[in-house]
Amino acid sequence: MADARVTLKLENIGKSFAKVESDEVIHALHNINVTMESGEFISLVGPSGCGKSTILRLVAGLITPTLGKVSVNGKEIDGPAPDRGMVFQKPTLFPWLTVEKNIAFSLEMRGVKKGNEDKVRRMLKVIGLESFKDDYPAQLSGGMAQRVALVRSLISEPEILLMDEPLGALDAFTRMHMQDEILNIWAEKRQLALMVTHDIDEAIYMGTRVLVMDVNPGHIIADIKIDESFPRDRSSASFVKYRNDILNKLHFGGKKA
Ligand code: ADP
Ligand code: MG
Repeated sequence: MADARVTLKLENIGKSFAKVESDEVIHALHNINVTMESGEFISLVGPSGCGKSTILRLVAGLITPTLGKVSVNGKEIDGPAPDRGMVFQKPTLFPWLTVEKNIAFSLEMRGVKKGNEDKVRRMLKVIGLESFKDDYPAQLSGGMAQRVALVRSLISEPEILLMDEPLGALDAFTRMHMQDEILNIWAEKRQLALMVTHDIDEAIYMGTRVLVMDVNPGHIIADIKIDESFPRDRSSASFVKYRNDILNKLHFGGKKA
């Protein structure tokens, strides 16, 4: 499982969508070439519509590229599989299962039969929701539900963890707290994590690498290694420099004094 090292490759990826109401074609992605490895936490930032979610969905195997190849360890992705876990912006929990059963479900799906109770208990502890284990999703706040959705994906130890704006729906304080929690969980196995966010600070705070994208058609304009140890200091000179770099790349740099 997650101890296996993986190399994820996107080679010459193009993705177009046909518009339903006309003959027009949307070129969502053009000429995407990137290689990612276990141990990396990759943040994907860019304006709305630049193809961030499309990249995640390609890697998840939910859609196929129009051009090019997406592969894991050389093997072309041909559909969803448990080696790639996805967390969506809105927590997708089963409303008829308790918190505990929601988390255990992904282990059962993966055919894991031994030690499930211990694993679930540990995950509940990590996210501080032990006393909510018998509650149903409707009884949880948005932040709690998202924490459950996260550990549900993490518990089955996918080699590749895909997160599409996982913290987008949370208030600022819960969000910062969750950034640390995700990093703590990720740090244990350092599987390959690929997270979409439109928050540049979040991208820098969490990423070992930031891919910056732009629109029309969606493409990668910068690939920046964040050479800092964790936990990061959001106000350090180097942090501010990374932020300015990325803002400049996206043409939000403002006037230079
Ligand atoms: P982002 O996540 O960066 O906001 P998306 O990957 O969702 O961007 O979308 C990229 C572009 O592709 C957008 O123009 C979007 O409208 C289009 N697109 C995405 N999915 C589809 C689809 N299933 N059908 C048609 N157009 C789509
Ligand atoms: Mg999106």
